[in-house]
Order: sequence, then structure tokens, then C-alpha cells
Amino acid sequence: MYAEGVAVMAGRIRDEDIALVRERTAIADVISEVVTLKSAGGGNLKGLCPFHDEKSPSFNVSPARNVFYCFGCGVGGDAIKFLMDAEHLSFVESVERLAARAGIQLRYVEDDRSTPRPRPQQGQRQRLVAAHAAATEFYRAQLTTAGARPAREFLAGRGFDRAAAERYGCGFAPDGWDLLTKHLRQQGFTHDELVTGGLSRPARSGSLIDRFRRRLMWPIRDITGDVIGFGARKLFDDDDGPKYLNTPETPIYKKSHVLYGIDQAKREIAKQGKVVVVEGYTDVMACHLADVPTAVATCGTAFGGDHISVLRRVLFDSDERAGEIIFTFDGDAAGQKAALRAFEDDQRFVGRTFIAVSPDNMDPCELRLAKGDLAVRDLVARREPLVDFALRHVISRFDLDTVDGRVEAMRRAAPLVAKIKDREKRPEYVRKLAGDLGMEIEPVQRAVLAAAHGPQAGSAPAAPARSRPASPAVDSPRSMVEREALKLALQEPVLAGPMFDAVEATDYQHPVHVAVRAAVAAAGGASGATGGAVWIERVRDACDDLAGQALIGELAVEPLRIDGEPDPRYVSITMARLQWSSVTGRIRDLKSKIQRINPVSNKDEYFALFGELLSLEQHARALREQAAGGL
Ligand SMILES: [Zn+2]
Repeated sequence: MYAEGVAVMAGRIRDEDIALVRERTAIADVISEVVTLKSAGGGNLKGLCPFHDEKSPSFNVSPARNVFYCFGCGVGGDAIKFLMDAEHLSFVESVERLAARAGIQLRYVEDDRSTPRPRPQQGQRQRLVAAHAAATEFYRAQLTTAGARPAREFLAGRGFDRAAAERYGCGFAPDGWDLLTKHLRQQGFTHDELVTGGLSRPARSGSLIDRFRRRLMWPIRDITGDVIGFGARKLFDDDDGPKYLNTPETPIYKKSHVLYGIDQAKREIAKQGKVVVVEGYTDVMACHLADVPTAVATCGTAFGGDHISVLRRVLFDSDERAGEIIFTFDGDAAGQKAALRAFEDDQRFVGRTFIAVSPDNMDPCELRLAKGDLAVRDLVARREPLVDFALRHVISRFDLDTVDGRVEAMRRAAPLVAKIKDREKRPEYVRKLAGDLGMEIEPVQRAVLAAAHGPQAGSAPAAPARSRPASPAVDSPRSMVEREALKLALQEPVLAGPMFDAVEATDYQHPVHVAVRAAVAAAGGASGATGGAVWIERVRDACDDLAGQALIGELAVEPLRIDGEPDPRYVSITMARLQWSSVTGRIRDLKSKIQRINPVSNKDEYFALFGELLSLEQHARALREQAAGGL
């Protein structure tokens, strides 16, 4: 199915190079850039699925087989497929990205065999990323020029020295209409690429001009570290643009997903199970430099659902390991409003959400400048549960000296208490709210109950609806052994192939298992296969049953039920158990049939069936011995 996608492209990548990319790519490394993975036993890894929303990890990665599979939504494949799905890349772009990562120089079919050279027309994403890398270098070099003095002063004035500026790749967009545009055009980037990437824009005259001019520049990187856009701060009074200007939406820059600093912070976020959300580029820098390495910020947009999804995967925010999310806000009205909105987002995290409001309306950057690194760490340490903050804020808007004020405050605060995820904490908050309002507990309790059952109750965290692929129950021993046999064929065809192929499809009972067994045969049988993602793809392609296709991906990564490496003995035992189940089933049917036959009037049939029964029982005994471990 990949081959087709490649064939339609001009400049097809050579098959052996694609194979080399597969071989040299460790899928776990590629996926870890986006999803925090933990051991799932059997050498496999698991994390929160990037393709569907979930609270417990069903996304599995098998480093040994170099494949991934999600038990929740059924998406699976190799590293190339992962990038295609996760980053919306084409097949060629995925291979190119992985090749660059592995240091492999790709050759294309149309190229002269003797002179490998880069393909003239790379995928769009790679071209735009290359243009951004070149622009980053250009702006960075400009920061040391005379014209960039205000930019250097700005950084110094915020407490950032040269090393800090370099660490974050800060730069300067020079005065001039088209300096960057010309520079990039000289490097071979096209008019369209510069416009599509948001680096240049057409002027009224029709010629191309730089999007950013006379501004301090922050390169914005995606989670893997590629620069995909810029944040640009105004420096001059006669610049009538907004204080901050960002890259517009482009094929590689989606502001609803982008988190500034995530490339540097992700490792610590995963390690600490904690993330600090701040408001600006300078705040991220200040936090990291003050040894709060888990800080990230949104870029020119409010914190929203897509940001939450990105963070939850890095945090491994799940039922088994809830994360901690700390929002920092200035104490001003806008910050409080943002904090209340964060209360809605809170429902989407499994973990606990906190608010850290800085004293004297200072943001982390100002705080570090005024009071030092320790004050920034202290700000984060003095965080308060979001619900406490929200309740206090809601109540503060009412005059509690009047009955009307108290009742209204209770009415507004009750829904917040009703939404507290940890139900066991609600009574405690009911008591606290009653105390704060100066009311009896009972009416407050009633108000909270009413709010919990009101129309808003639906937003309480319900069990996530998981769409599992149709997969046979694994509770019966027979189903389990059928599964195990199929896993051996998919995961260990070299070892298990001959024994697996020798057992007929009729020995399988569950229809989906029969379909998978048939697909293995249709793919040429397990005996000749060498395994890996290619083999699994081939079986999947050969399977015309949808549930079967989903099951193949699942079985390709599900750990075998054996500690350590499977050996011929294990294969033999598994296949014997499978046949034994089938044979004993036939024995049972046969006995029932024999009982219903009159041995006198149907003597011939009776003896024929009886003979069959004897040989089946003999076979069953042999299989039972084999299943017990004798070869
Ligand atoms: Zn999934």
C-alpha cells in the first residue's frame, strides 16, 4: 500500500533506501519525541495515544518489531506510518524526515546511479522547515549588527545575557523591505515557499517583502525542535504594528497546537509529571533560567484544547499517573479571567490543576528581574489548587453582608464545587464554601447537588468513550490459545512459520481468528516470511475482514504469554494446545452423534464413526503430551 503512494510521486525513493531508513530508525525514539512512553512489560512501551483522546494508555510501541499500535482506536504501523499520521506528512516526506534523522542520504530512482544527490523537489514540510532554519540563522546573525542595538538592550533589560539569547536563538529582523526575502531567494527558496511559510508577503506593488522588520525575533520550535515560525516583538515607537507579531497559520505552524519552549521542556515535564504554563516568550526563558525547566507558553493565542492534548501526552497524564498543571497568571483582571477559563480546561486533565498568581502583578520575567531566580521558583511552589482560587474569585464579586449577595454568591460558586473531579473532596469544599459565605452547610450542599444534576453536569468527567476495535474476548482458554498462535505467526514467523502453517484454518474457532489465519496463508504463509513491519503490513493487506485487520495490528504488538524469548518448544506447545482444543471439540460432537445413532440398524455408520472417535482420541492424547511440553 505504500508502494502505490510512492509510485505516483516524481522522483521515487529507491526501495533499498526506504528499507534502510526502516532498519536504522528506532520507532520508540521517533514516537518519544511526541509521546512520553513507559514500560508496558514484555519489552513493549505504552503512552497516551496521539490519535485519540484517552485517560489510560492504550497506545503501544514494540521496539523489537519496530511497530506501534493503539488498542483504543486501532491505528498502527511503522515509524513512517507514525509520522504520516501524527505530522500529516506524505509518505515521501516521512521517509525524508527519518532519513535526515538517521543520517541517510536518499537516492531517487530517476537519479544517475553513480552520483547520489538530494532530490530537487523535496516535500513541502521539509522545504518550509529548511527555509525557517535559514531564516533563524539570518536573524541570529543580524542580532550583533549596529542596527540591532535596541533588540540587545531589550534582552539585557529583561535580564537575558548573550548565552541566554543564544540558547533560545533570539535574533533581529533588520530594517529594510526585503533583506530576508532576498537572502532566502538566493538560497534557492521559491516565491511560493516564502509566502506559504509566512516569512514573506507580497507588497502592493506585487514584489515580495519581509513579513517581520525591525523586531526582536524568537524562533518557535515544534516539539521535535524544528523551527516552524517566529514570534516578533516591537522595538521602535514608530512601529505601528502590535506589540507581538507571530507567524500566521501555515501548513507547518498551527497556533492552536504550538507551545513555546516545549522542545526544551518536554524531557523535564515527562520526568517531573508537571508543567508550568506561562504567558510569553520572556516568561519561558526566565523560568527555564531560574531552574523551572518545565515552563511553556502559548504563542499569540489562548490556551486551549489542542494544547491540552499535546501536554497530556508529554505528561503521561492518565489514571495511573496523573499530572500536575500549573498556570501562572499576573494578578490583574485579565489573569483572573484566564484562570476562570482554565477551570473549564481543568476537566480535560486527569491530573490536578493549580494556579500560581505572582505578587504585585508581576509576570515571571519581571519577578526574576526584581527578586531573582528564587522568587520564580517560589511562585511556582506557592501554587494553589485551581478550585480554591476560582471559588475565592467568584465570591469576591458579591457583597456578603447582604442576604441577596450571599445567596447569589452561593448560586455562582455551587457549580464550581459540583465540577470538582475528585468527588471525595466535594464535602470538604461544601463546608469551606459555607464557612466563607457565612451560611449553614445544608443550603450550600443542596445548591451543589442541584448544580451537579443540572444541565452542566454533563461536563463532569465521564469515563472516556473508547472505541475498541471488534476483538474477540480473550477470556476463554481456546480464544487465548488461538490468539497466541496468531501472535507467533505475526511476530515470530521465522521461528513459528512451519508449525503454524501446518495447522489448518479449520482448527480455529473464532471467525475473526479464522480470517487472520486465512490472511497469513493469503500473504504467502508464515514459513517464508522474515517478519517485521513489512510482514505485518502484507498480512493486513491480505486480510479482507475489517475486524481482522484491526486485530492484526493489535496482535503484532501484544506481548507473548511467555517470560523471555519464545523457542521451538513454546511454539510446539501453543500449536498443540490449539489443535487439542479443536480435536476435543470434534470428539465431543462425534460422541453426541454416536449416541444418537442406533448401532443395530446403522451398524456401518456406527463403526465408522467409532473408528474415527478412537483415532481422534489417540490424536488428542498425543497433542496433550505435546502441549504438556514434550516435543
Ligand atoms: Zn488511539
